[in-house]
Amino acid sequence: MADRDIDYLLVGGGIAGGNCARWLRREGAEGSILLVGREPDLPYDRPPLSKGYLQGQESREDALMQDADFYADQSIETLTRTSAMKLDLQARTVRLSDKQEIAFGQLLLATGANVRRLAVDGADLEGLHYLRTFANSDEIRANAAGKRVVLIGGSYIASEVAATLTELGSRCTMVMMEPIALSRTFGPAAARFFHDILVDHGIEVHAEDELERFEGADGHVTRVVTKKGREIEADAVVIGTGVNPDVMLARSAGLELGDSGGILVDSQLQTATRGVFAAGDVAEYTSVVNGGRRIRVEHWDVAFGHGKTAALNMLGRDVDHEAVPYFFSDLSDWAALEYVGPAYDWDREVVRGNPDEGEFTVFYLHEGRVAGALTVGRSDDLQAARRLVAAGTDLGDRAEGLGDLGTDLETVE
Ligand code: NAP
Repeated sequence: MADRDIDYLLVGGGIAGGNCARWLRREGAEGSILLVGREPDLPYDRPPLSKGYLQGQESREDALMQDADFYADQSIETLTRTSAMKLDLQARTVRLSDKQEIAFGQLLLATGANVRRLAVDGADLEGLHYLRTFANSDEIRANAAGKRVVLIGGSYIASEVAATLTELGSRCTMVMMEPIALSRTFGPAAARFFHDILVDHGIEVHAEDELERFEGADGHVTRVVTKKGREIEADAVVIGTGVNPDVMLARSAGLELGDSGGILVDSQLQTATRGVFAAGDVAEYTSVVNGGRRIRVEHWDVAFGHGKTAALNMLGRDVDHEAVPYFFSDLSDWAALEYVGPAYDWDREVVRGNPDEGEFTVFYLHEGRVAGALTVGRSDDLQAARRLVAAGTDLGDRAEGLGDLGTDLETVE
Protein backbone atom coordinates (compact mmCIF):
# COMPACT_ATOMS: atom_id res chain seq x y z
CA MET A 1 0.00 0.00 0.00
CA ALA A 2 1.53 3.31 -1.09
CA ASP A 3 1.88 6.17 1.39
CA ARG A 4 0.61 8.71 -1.14
CA ASP A 5 -0.95 8.98 -4.59
CA ILE A 6 0.50 11.59 -6.96
CA ASP A 7 -0.87 12.31 -10.43
CA TYR A 8 2.38 13.58 -11.94
CA LEU A 9 5.57 12.35 -10.31
CA LEU A 10 8.70 13.99 -11.72
CA VAL A 11 11.96 12.33 -10.70
CA GLY A 12 14.99 14.57 -11.22
CA GLY A 13 15.18 18.14 -10.03
CA GLY A 14 17.05 19.56 -13.01
CA ILE A 15 15.86 21.73 -15.83
CA ALA A 16 13.90 18.96 -17.61
CA GLY A 17 11.89 18.09 -14.48
CA GLY A 18 11.41 21.75 -13.55
CA ASN A 19 10.19 22.76 -16.98
CA CYS A 20 7.86 19.76 -17.14
CA ALA A 21 6.23 20.85 -13.88
CA ARG A 22 5.89 24.39 -15.18
CA TRP A 23 4.27 23.31 -18.46
CA LEU A 24 1.91 20.86 -16.78
CA ARG A 25 0.36 23.70 -14.82
CA ARG A 26 0.55 26.14 -17.69
CA GLU A 27 -1.44 23.75 -19.88
CA GLY A 28 -4.09 23.19 -17.24
CA ALA A 29 -3.05 20.08 -15.30
CA GLU A 30 -5.22 20.01 -12.20
CA GLY A 31 -3.83 16.97 -10.40
CA SER A 32 -1.04 16.80 -7.86
CA ILE A 33 2.55 17.36 -9.05
CA LEU A 34 5.57 16.22 -7.04
CA LEU A 35 9.10 17.14 -8.18
CA VAL A 36 11.81 15.10 -6.48
CA GLY A 37 15.50 16.05 -6.70
CA ARG A 38 18.75 14.85 -5.15
CA GLU A 39 20.38 18.27 -4.95
CA PRO A 40 19.77 20.82 -2.20
CA ASP A 41 18.65 23.44 -4.75
CA LEU A 42 15.52 23.84 -6.84
CA PRO A 43 15.99 23.39 -10.62
CA TYR A 44 18.71 25.66 -11.97
CA ASP A 45 20.61 26.33 -15.19
CA ARG A 46 23.98 24.60 -15.36
CA PRO A 47 25.63 26.66 -18.16
CA PRO A 48 26.58 29.50 -15.75
CA LEU A 49 28.50 27.05 -13.53
CA SER A 50 31.48 27.10 -15.90
CA LYS A 51 30.94 30.68 -17.02
CA GLY A 52 29.23 33.65 -15.31
CA TYR A 53 28.52 31.98 -11.96
CA LEU A 54 32.06 30.59 -11.71
CA GLN A 55 33.38 34.02 -12.59
CA GLY A 56 31.31 35.60 -9.82
CA GLN A 57 29.24 37.70 -12.23
CA GLU A 58 25.96 35.81 -11.77
CA SER A 59 24.29 34.79 -8.51
CA ARG A 60 22.53 31.59 -7.53
CA GLU A 61 19.23 33.42 -7.83
CA ASP A 62 20.09 34.38 -11.41
CA ALA A 63 20.66 30.71 -12.24
CA LEU A 64 17.51 29.35 -10.55
CA MET A 65 14.80 28.51 -13.06
CA GLN A 66 12.08 29.69 -10.67
CA ASP A 67 12.18 30.71 -7.02
CA ALA A 68 10.46 28.80 -4.20
CA ASP A 69 7.40 31.09 -4.34
CA PHE A 70 6.68 30.05 -7.90
CA TYR A 71 6.37 26.38 -6.97
CA ALA A 72 4.21 27.21 -3.96
CA ASP A 73 1.94 29.48 -6.04
CA GLN A 74 1.55 26.78 -8.68
CA SER A 75 0.88 24.02 -6.13
CA ILE A 76 3.94 22.12 -7.30
CA GLU A 77 5.35 20.18 -4.38
CA THR A 78 9.15 19.97 -4.37
CA LEU A 79 11.35 17.60 -2.42
CA THR A 80 15.07 18.47 -2.51
CA ARG A 81 17.90 16.27 -1.14
CA THR A 82 15.71 13.28 -1.95
CA SER A 83 16.49 10.36 -4.25
CA ALA A 84 14.16 7.90 -5.90
CA MET A 85 15.46 4.49 -4.81
CA LYS A 86 13.20 1.98 -6.51
CA LEU A 87 10.72 2.04 -9.35
CA ASP A 88 8.09 -0.68 -9.69
CA LEU A 89 6.49 -0.46 -13.13
CA GLN A 90 3.80 -3.05 -12.39
CA ALA A 91 2.61 -1.46 -9.15
CA ARG A 92 3.35 2.03 -10.59
CA THR A 93 5.13 3.11 -7.43
CA VAL A 94 8.41 4.80 -6.57
CA ARG A 95 10.15 4.44 -3.21
CA LEU A 96 12.00 7.58 -2.09
CA SER A 97 15.09 7.89 0.11
CA ASP A 98 12.86 9.38 2.85
CA LYS A 99 11.07 5.97 2.84
CA GLN A 100 7.83 7.28 1.32
CA GLU A 101 6.22 5.02 -1.22
CA ILE A 102 4.54 7.09 -3.94
CA ALA A 103 1.93 5.70 -6.30
CA PHE A 104 1.96 7.68 -9.55
CA GLY A 105 -0.48 8.26 -12.37
CA GLN A 106 2.26 9.40 -14.77
CA LEU A 107 5.99 9.47 -14.25
CA LEU A 108 8.86 11.49 -15.70
CA LEU A 109 12.40 10.17 -15.38
CA ALA A 110 14.72 13.15 -15.71
CA THR A 111 17.60 11.85 -13.66
CA GLY A 112 20.32 13.60 -15.68
CA ALA A 113 23.90 12.41 -15.71
CA ASN A 114 26.81 11.80 -13.37
CA VAL A 115 30.37 12.91 -14.05
CA ARG A 116 32.73 10.22 -15.26
CA ARG A 117 35.32 9.86 -12.52
CA LEU A 118 38.89 8.93 -13.33
CA ALA A 119 40.43 5.92 -11.62
CA VAL A 120 44.16 6.71 -11.70
CA ASP A 121 46.83 6.82 -9.03
CA GLY A 122 46.29 9.87 -6.85
CA ALA A 123 42.60 10.17 -7.73
CA ASP A 124 41.71 10.52 -4.04
CA LEU A 125 43.95 13.55 -3.41
CA GLU A 126 42.41 16.84 -2.34
CA GLY A 127 42.35 19.63 -4.88
CA LEU A 128 40.80 17.53 -7.67
CA HIS A 129 37.50 18.93 -8.92
CA TYR A 130 34.67 17.76 -11.13
CA LEU A 131 31.97 20.20 -12.23
CA ARG A 132 28.27 19.48 -12.23
CA THR A 133 26.65 21.38 -9.36
CA PHE A 134 26.58 24.79 -7.70
CA ALA A 135 28.70 23.35 -4.87
CA ASN A 136 31.37 22.12 -7.33
CA SER A 137 31.53 25.55 -8.96
CA ASP A 138 31.85 27.25 -5.55
CA GLU A 139 34.72 24.93 -4.62
CA ILE A 140 36.55 25.52 -7.89
CA ARG A 141 36.34 29.29 -7.47
CA ALA A 142 37.53 29.03 -3.86
CA ASN A 143 40.41 26.65 -4.56
CA ALA A 144 41.55 27.37 -8.10
CA ALA A 145 41.11 31.10 -8.76
CA GLY A 146 44.51 32.78 -9.03
CA LYS A 147 46.36 29.45 -8.76
CA ARG A 148 48.19 27.02 -11.05
CA VAL A 149 45.43 24.87 -12.48
CA VAL A 150 45.59 21.82 -14.73
CA LEU A 151 42.48 20.92 -16.72
CA ILE A 152 41.98 17.35 -17.87
CA GLY A 153 39.95 16.98 -21.07
CA GLY A 154 39.61 18.92 -24.29
CA SER A 155 35.90 19.55 -24.45
CA TYR A 156 33.36 22.01 -22.98
CA ILE A 157 34.13 21.81 -19.29
CA ALA A 158 37.90 21.96 -19.69
CA SER A 159 37.85 24.74 -22.31
CA GLU A 160 35.18 26.91 -20.68
CA VAL A 161 36.63 26.57 -17.17
CA ALA A 162 40.17 27.25 -18.44
CA ALA A 163 38.92 30.49 -20.01
CA THR A 164 36.98 31.59 -16.93
CA LEU A 165 39.77 30.76 -14.49
CA THR A 166 42.31 32.57 -16.67
CA GLU A 167 40.14 35.67 -16.29
CA LEU A 168 40.26 35.08 -12.53
CA GLY A 169 44.06 35.17 -12.62
CA SER A 170 44.80 31.43 -12.72
CA ARG A 171 47.66 29.97 -14.76
CA CYS A 172 45.93 27.22 -16.73
CA THR A 173 47.32 24.18 -18.51
CA MET A 174 45.10 21.78 -20.47
CA VAL A 175 45.94 18.11 -20.98
CA MET A 176 43.85 16.48 -23.68
CA MET A 177 43.74 13.42 -25.89
CA GLU A 178 42.39 15.38 -28.88
CA PRO A 179 44.86 17.03 -31.30
CA ILE A 180 42.92 20.31 -31.10
CA ALA A 181 40.62 21.51 -28.29
CA LEU A 182 36.91 20.89 -29.02
CA SER A 183 37.74 19.01 -32.23
CA ARG A 184 35.79 15.87 -31.36
CA THR A 185 32.47 17.72 -31.57
CA PHE A 186 33.31 20.52 -33.96
CA GLY A 187 35.96 19.19 -36.34
CA PRO A 188 39.29 20.77 -37.21
CA ALA A 189 38.25 24.03 -38.92
CA ALA A 190 36.12 25.41 -36.08
CA ALA A 191 38.16 23.80 -33.32
CA ARG A 192 41.39 25.42 -34.56
CA PHE A 193 39.72 28.81 -34.13
CA PHE A 194 38.85 28.08 -30.46
CA HIS A 195 42.15 26.34 -29.74
CA ASP A 196 44.12 29.37 -30.96
CA ILE A 197 42.01 31.68 -28.81
CA LEU A 198 42.80 29.61 -25.71
CA VAL A 199 46.53 29.65 -26.52
CA ASP A 200 46.51 33.37 -27.38
CA HIS A 201 45.13 34.08 -23.90
CA GLY A 202 48.08 32.31 -22.29
CA ILE A 203 46.62 28.85 -21.71
CA GLU A 204 49.22 26.13 -22.20
CA VAL A 205 47.77 23.22 -24.17
CA HIS A 206 49.24 19.73 -24.21
CA ALA A 207 47.33 17.96 -26.97
CA GLU A 208 47.48 14.28 -27.96
CA ASP A 209 48.56 13.41 -24.45
CA GLU A 210 46.77 11.74 -21.60
CA LEU A 211 46.68 11.74 -17.84
CA GLU A 212 48.92 9.13 -16.22
CA ARG A 213 48.57 9.97 -12.50
CA PHE A 214 48.29 12.66 -9.88
CA GLU A 215 51.01 13.20 -7.29
CA GLY A 216 50.64 15.08 -4.04
CA ALA A 217 52.02 16.11 -0.68
CA ASP A 218 50.16 16.00 2.63
CA GLY A 219 47.11 14.60 0.88
CA HIS A 220 46.84 17.48 -1.61
CA VAL A 221 47.59 17.38 -5.33
CA THR A 222 50.87 19.05 -6.34
CA ARG A 223 51.62 17.58 -9.77
CA VAL A 224 49.99 16.05 -12.82
CA VAL A 225 52.01 13.43 -14.71
CA THR A 226 51.02 12.61 -18.29
CA LYS A 227 51.47 9.47 -20.36
CA LYS A 228 54.07 11.28 -22.47
CA GLY A 229 56.04 11.93 -19.29
CA ARG A 230 55.25 15.61 -18.72
CA GLU A 231 55.23 16.70 -15.08
CA ILE A 232 53.04 19.75 -14.51
CA GLU A 233 52.95 21.54 -11.15
CA ALA A 234 49.40 22.11 -9.96
CA ASP A 235 47.61 23.71 -7.00
CA ALA A 236 44.28 22.46 -8.30
CA VAL A 237 42.92 20.24 -11.07
CA VAL A 238 39.60 20.42 -12.89
CA ILE A 239 38.50 17.23 -14.63
CA GLY A 240 36.08 17.40 -17.56
CA THR A 241 36.03 13.89 -18.93
CA GLY A 242 32.37 13.56 -19.73
CA VAL A 243 29.27 12.22 -18.05
CA ASN A 244 27.23 9.01 -17.91
CA PRO A 245 23.44 9.14 -18.03
CA ASP A 246 22.00 8.21 -14.63
CA VAL A 247 19.86 5.22 -15.52
CA MET A 248 20.16 3.28 -12.29
CA LEU A 249 16.48 3.54 -11.44
CA ALA A 250 15.33 2.84 -15.00
CA ARG A 251 17.66 -0.10 -15.53
CA SER A 252 16.74 -1.87 -12.31
CA ALA A 253 13.05 -1.34 -13.12
CA GLY A 254 13.60 -3.15 -16.43
CA LEU A 255 13.13 -0.22 -18.81
CA GLU A 256 14.91 -0.68 -22.12
CA LEU A 257 18.14 1.24 -22.66
CA GLY A 258 19.46 2.42 -26.04
CA ASP A 259 22.85 2.23 -27.74
CA SER A 260 24.10 5.38 -25.99
CA GLY A 261 23.14 3.97 -22.59
CA GLY A 262 20.13 6.28 -22.20
CA ILE A 263 16.50 5.38 -21.51
CA LEU A 264 14.84 4.44 -24.77
CA VAL A 265 11.81 6.60 -25.57
CA ASP A 266 9.76 7.27 -28.68
CA SER A 267 9.39 10.57 -30.54
CA GLN A 268 6.95 11.70 -27.82
CA LEU A 269 9.48 10.86 -25.09
CA GLN A 270 7.41 7.96 -23.80
CA THR A 271 8.93 4.60 -22.80
CA ALA A 272 7.34 1.27 -23.71
CA THR A 273 5.45 1.54 -20.40
CA ARG A 274 2.52 3.87 -21.01
CA GLY A 275 2.54 6.99 -18.88
CA VAL A 276 6.26 6.68 -18.10
CA PHE A 277 8.40 9.31 -19.85
CA ALA A 278 12.07 10.27 -19.92
CA ALA A 279 13.61 13.67 -20.65
CA GLY A 280 16.93 15.48 -20.73
CA ASP A 281 20.38 13.86 -20.53
CA VAL A 282 18.96 10.38 -19.87
CA ALA A 283 16.53 10.28 -22.79
CA GLU A 284 17.53 8.50 -25.99
CA TYR A 285 14.68 9.52 -28.27
CA THR A 286 13.68 9.11 -31.89
CA SER A 287 14.04 12.56 -33.38
CA VAL A 288 11.66 13.33 -36.21
CA VAL A 289 13.77 16.36 -37.15
CA ASN A 290 17.11 14.54 -37.31
CA GLY A 291 16.24 12.08 -40.04
CA GLY A 292 14.41 9.76 -37.65
CA ARG A 293 17.67 8.96 -35.86
CA ARG A 294 17.72 7.95 -32.22
CA ILE A 295 19.71 10.58 -30.39
CA ARG A 296 20.67 11.51 -26.86
CA VAL A 297 21.93 15.03 -26.26
CA GLU A 298 23.44 16.35 -23.04
CA HIS A 299 22.62 20.03 -23.24
CA TRP A 300 20.56 22.54 -21.36
CA ASP A 301 18.37 23.64 -24.25
CA VAL A 302 17.38 20.06 -25.09
CA ALA A 303 16.50 19.25 -21.47
CA PHE A 304 14.42 22.42 -21.29
CA GLY A 305 12.52 21.57 -24.47
CA HIS A 306 12.04 17.95 -23.45
CA GLY A 307 10.38 19.11 -20.24
CA LYS A 308 7.70 20.86 -22.26
CA THR A 309 7.16 17.99 -24.71
CA ALA A 310 6.86 15.47 -21.88
CA ALA A 311 4.32 17.68 -20.10
CA LEU A 312 2.17 18.05 -23.23
CA ASN A 313 2.18 14.29 -23.80
CA MET A 314 1.32 13.59 -20.17
CA LEU A 315 -1.73 15.71 -20.92
CA GLY A 316 -2.55 13.56 -23.95
CA ARG A 317 -1.61 16.08 -26.63
CA ASP A 318 0.14 13.50 -28.77
CA VAL A 319 3.06 15.68 -29.95
CA ASP A 320 6.48 14.68 -31.26
CA HIS A 321 9.54 16.45 -29.88
CA GLU A 322 10.20 18.62 -32.89
CA ALA A 323 13.06 20.95 -31.98
CA VAL A 324 16.41 20.57 -33.72
CA PRO A 325 18.85 20.41 -30.77
CA TYR A 326 20.66 23.70 -30.14
CA PHE A 327 23.39 24.68 -27.75
CA PHE A 328 25.96 27.35 -27.12
CA SER A 329 29.35 27.62 -25.48
CA ASP A 330 31.33 30.65 -24.35
CA LEU A 331 35.04 30.91 -23.73
CA SER A 332 34.75 33.76 -21.24
CA ASP A 333 34.02 36.84 -23.38
CA TRP A 334 36.74 35.81 -25.83
CA ALA A 335 34.51 33.80 -28.15
CA ALA A 336 30.96 32.47 -28.31
CA LEU A 337 29.67 29.64 -30.44
CA GLU A 338 26.20 28.39 -31.23
CA TYR A 339 25.41 25.01 -32.68
CA VAL A 340 22.53 23.02 -34.11
CA GLY A 341 22.63 19.32 -34.91
CA PRO A 342 24.00 17.08 -33.62
CA ALA A 343 26.27 15.81 -36.38
CA TYR A 344 27.87 12.69 -34.93
CA ASP A 345 29.79 11.89 -38.05
CA TRP A 346 30.16 13.84 -41.22
CA ASP A 347 32.14 13.47 -44.42
CA ARG A 348 32.38 17.10 -45.40
CA GLU A 349 32.67 20.55 -43.83
CA VAL A 350 31.62 23.65 -45.76
CA VAL A 351 32.83 26.91 -44.23
CA ARG A 352 30.91 30.15 -44.78
CA GLY A 353 32.72 33.36 -43.86
CA ASN A 354 36.24 33.64 -42.57
CA PRO A 355 37.47 32.23 -39.26
CA ASP A 356 40.42 34.66 -39.41
CA GLU A 357 37.92 37.51 -39.19
CA GLY A 358 36.10 35.87 -36.28
CA GLU A 359 32.79 35.42 -38.12
CA PHE A 360 32.01 32.11 -39.73
CA THR A 361 29.66 29.16 -39.94
CA VAL A 362 30.64 25.54 -40.52
CA PHE A 363 28.06 23.23 -42.09
CA TYR A 364 28.64 19.54 -41.34
CA LEU A 365 27.38 17.30 -44.14
CA HIS A 366 26.79 13.58 -44.17
CA GLU A 367 26.19 12.07 -47.61
CA GLY A 368 25.14 15.45 -48.97
CA ARG A 369 22.73 16.24 -46.11
CA VAL A 370 23.29 18.93 -43.49
CA ALA A 371 23.63 17.10 -40.16
CA GLY A 372 24.69 20.09 -38.08
CA ALA A 373 26.12 23.60 -38.14
CA LEU A 374 28.23 25.75 -35.87
CA THR A 375 28.45 29.49 -35.99
CA VAL A 376 30.55 32.24 -34.49
CA GLY A 377 28.95 35.60 -34.99
CA ARG A 378 26.53 34.56 -37.75
CA SER A 379 23.51 33.40 -35.72
CA ASP A 380 21.12 34.00 -38.61
CA ASP A 381 22.78 31.16 -40.56
CA LEU A 382 21.45 28.73 -37.97
CA GLN A 383 17.86 29.36 -39.09
CA ALA A 384 18.65 27.88 -42.48
CA ALA A 385 20.76 25.16 -40.88
CA ARG A 386 17.85 24.07 -38.67
CA ARG A 387 15.57 23.92 -41.67
CA LEU A 388 18.10 21.90 -43.69
CA VAL A 389 18.76 19.46 -40.83
CA ALA A 390 15.03 18.89 -40.43
CA ALA A 391 14.41 18.53 -44.18
CA GLY A 392 17.28 16.09 -44.62
CA THR A 393 17.50 16.88 -48.34
CA ASP A 394 20.49 15.56 -50.26
CA LEU A 395 21.95 18.84 -51.53
CA GLY A 396 24.34 17.21 -54.00
CA ASP A 397 26.41 19.88 -55.79
CA ARG A 398 24.35 22.63 -54.17
CA ALA A 399 26.15 22.00 -50.87
CA GLU A 400 29.09 24.06 -52.14
CA GLY A 401 26.80 27.11 -52.30
CA LEU A 402 26.44 27.08 -48.51
CA GLY A 403 30.01 28.38 -48.32
CA ASP A 404 29.43 31.23 -50.75
CA LEU A 405 28.54 34.46 -48.97
CA GLY A 406 26.73 35.51 -52.15
CA THR A 407 24.22 32.68 -51.72
CA ASP A 408 21.05 33.58 -49.85
CA LEU A 409 20.72 30.59 -47.50
CA GLU A 410 16.96 30.92 -47.50
CA THR A 411 16.96 29.85 -51.13
CA VAL A 412 18.90 26.62 -50.47
CA GLU A 413 16.53 23.69 -50.17
P1 NAP B 1 32.37 15.90 -22.96
O1 NAP B 1 31.94 17.03 -23.81
O2 NAP B 1 31.67 14.61 -23.05
O3 NAP B 1 33.93 15.65 -23.27
C1 NAP B 1 34.69 14.69 -22.58
C2 NAP B 1 36.17 15.00 -22.71
O4 NAP B 1 36.89 14.12 -21.85
C3 NAP B 1 36.73 14.79 -24.10
O5 NAP B 1 37.72 15.73 -24.29
C4 NAP B 1 37.33 13.36 -23.99
O6 NAP B 1 38.37 13.12 -24.90
C5 NAP B 1 37.88 13.42 -22.59
N1 NAP B 1 38.07 12.12 -21.94
C6 NAP B 1 37.18 11.10 -21.84
N2 NAP B 1 37.71 10.09 -21.10
C7 NAP B 1 38.94 10.50 -20.72
C8 NAP B 1 40.00 9.93 -19.95
N3 NAP B 1 39.88 8.71 -19.40
N4 NAP B 1 41.12 10.65 -19.76
C9 NAP B 1 41.24 11.89 -20.30
N5 NAP B 1 40.30 12.48 -21.05
C10 NAP B 1 39.18 11.79 -21.25
O7 NAP B 1 32.35 16.26 -21.41
P2 NAP B 1 32.66 17.55 -20.51
O8 NAP B 1 33.42 18.60 -21.22
O9 NAP B 1 33.23 16.96 -19.26
O10 NAP B 1 31.22 18.09 -20.19
C11 NAP B 1 30.36 17.35 -19.32
C12 NAP B 1 28.91 17.53 -19.71
O11 NAP B 1 28.50 18.86 -19.53
C13 NAP B 1 28.61 17.16 -21.15
O12 NAP B 1 27.38 16.53 -21.17
C14 NAP B 1 28.52 18.50 -21.83
O13 NAP B 1 27.66 18.46 -22.94
C15 NAP B 1 27.98 19.39 -20.72
N6 NAP B 1 28.45 20.77 -20.86
C16 NAP B 1 27.97 21.52 -21.88
C17 NAP B 1 28.40 22.81 -22.04
C18 NAP B 1 27.86 23.66 -23.16
O14 NAP B 1 26.97 23.21 -23.85
N7 NAP B 1 28.37 24.85 -23.34
C19 NAP B 1 29.33 23.35 -21.16
C20 NAP B 1 29.83 22.56 -20.14
C21 NAP B 1 29.37 21.27 -20.02
P3 NAP B 1 38.09 12.37 -26.30
O15 NAP B 1 37.22 13.25 -27.08
O16 NAP B 1 39.43 12.21 -26.93
O17 NAP B 1 37.43 11.06 -25.93
